[in-house]
Amino acid sequence: MTAAGLPMTVPEPGLPARVRIHEVGARDGLQNEQRAVPTEVKAEFVRQLVGAGLTTVEATSFVHPEWVPQLADAERLFPLVRDLDAELPVLVPNAHGLDRALALGADRVAVFASATESFAKANLNRTVDETLAVLAPVVARAREEGAHVRGYLSMCFGDPWEGPVPAEQVVRVCRALIDMGCEELSLGDTVGVATAGQVTDLLTRLNTAGVPTGVLGVHFHDTYGQALANTLTALRHGVTTVDASAGGLGGCPFARSATGNLATEDLVWMLRGLGVDTGVDLDLLTATSVWMAEQLGRPSPSRTVRALTGGAADQSAHTPKERTA
Ligand code: MG
Repeated sequence: MTAAGLPMTVPEPGLPARVRIHEVGARDGLQNEQRAVPTEVKAEFVRQLVGAGLTTVEATSFVHPEWVPQLADAERLFPLVRDLDAELPVLVPNAHGLDRALALGADRVAVFASATESFAKANLNRTVDETLAVLAPVVARAREEGAHVRGYLSMCFGDPWEGPVPAEQVVRVCRALIDMGCEELSLGDTVGVATAGQVTDLLTRLNTAGVPTGVLGVHFHDTYGQALANTLTALRHGVTTVDASAGGLGGCPFARSATGNLATEDLVWMLRGLGVDTGVDLDLLTATSVWMAEQLGRPSPSRTVRALTGGAADQSAHTPKERTA
């Protein structure tokens, strides 16, 4: 790639010097793929992501295989990647999932809850409070076992059934997750409807409720093209953990648009331009996403991947309909 493959760096005062990217492509990305990806391909994907400089790569999920058949191979996959030199958190939905993860030596786990009753019912078949009651002993036990615990919170900015989500509701569940022992929270804009002012408002309210910015990560979706604007807003507030998915893999099953997770390449491009260190080699990461797109038989939706490859990711000729869409 030529020098044209990098943005000019012009730092913006007040931004963090470094951002930790929490890479979710292998879990959040692949769990939304229709096609089951072979275990060895997933392992190679995780290896390449770590090789590109990502320091936190969410590897898989120990949810019940019937819920997420795409990740039913967690027991076979995790041992293939667990010795890589990176943080490799895994998703656990309940005590059984935690047992499975701990048995394989996982030392970072993530639990998930919803800010809204509708999504809690749809995704977990429980109320919000029932979910919290299930998670409390899971988090406590994980901490006793010395595991780091992240809490994902879905629907923090909008819900496909309920519409706008009152910030107080989000703050209440965040507080509960912190109080039960989560060391980090990921605020999910699961349908991608958030805009920048809403981001600042929620972060400020969380701080007022005693949740420090240092424990907060953001998980934006690009459904309406707002993911980078929302991310920059969060960085200006002091957030230093940002979730992203290599190549923009995955999305939300409740949003019709093909665009879902913020693409890691798009994030790295912006941060590089701002002089914010991520440790990521953009060329290696882009090559990884092009390779993965070939495995999946369709182009990466990442704007940066497309721009850097001159549309090469579009040229795999597997999906002519998508190429013209
Ligand atoms: Mg996501």
